[in-house]
Amino acid sequence: MPSPIVHISAGYAIYRIYKHKLPKNRYLFSRIPLYFSIIAILSLLPDLDALFGLIFRDMEHYHNNLTHSLFFGLLVALVFSGLARWIFGSKIWIWFMVALLSYELHVILDVFTGERGVMLLWPLVQHRFSSPVKLFYGLQWGLGFFSIWHLWTIFTESLFFLVVFFLLNFFDKRRLSKSPGIIEAQKPY
Ligand SMILES: [Zn+2]
Repeated sequence: MPSPIVHISAGYAIYRIYKHKLPKNRYLFSRIPLYFSIIAILSLLPDLDALFGLIFRDMEHYHNNLTHSLFFGLLVALVFSGLARWIFGSKIWIWFMVALLSYELHVILDVFTGERGVMLLWPLVQHRFSSPVKLFYGLQWGLGFFSIWHLWTIFTESLFFLVVFFLLNFFDKRRLSKSPGIIEAQKPY
């Protein structure tokens, strides 16, 4: 699996794309955008099963299983969008899209990382899906907590974040130049 850097980068991109459709932003500790925090959590949510792997010291048994299924993501998005609509307002389909994209993108990025693959179509099939083409070296939990290779993961995935950040800024600026009235689009958060 990629480290949280890649998953949060994906969540950040979804936040930047959808933030104008979400209700007026609120801030945690007066600095951190609340909706970005929620989307980041949704982008990391499938890896909640890794906690059980850590607690019971058996990643292979607990990790990348049913929480890494597209159907499970659909269920999460349905429940989340109903709750978010009730708590924050705005249109339910926007919350649904945000949640679905955040969750499913995590699962798909995992397919393109590592060797073991994920149970993409559980409960229809138990088969693990893993792309022969890998986009990320990822966190190799078999190496243990302290491995020099984790530094390589942090370095390459930080570069990935920078690419995402600059691409978002580029497209925001282009959009702004076409519609000068959209001042909000200039802000990165
Ligand atoms: Zn994962």
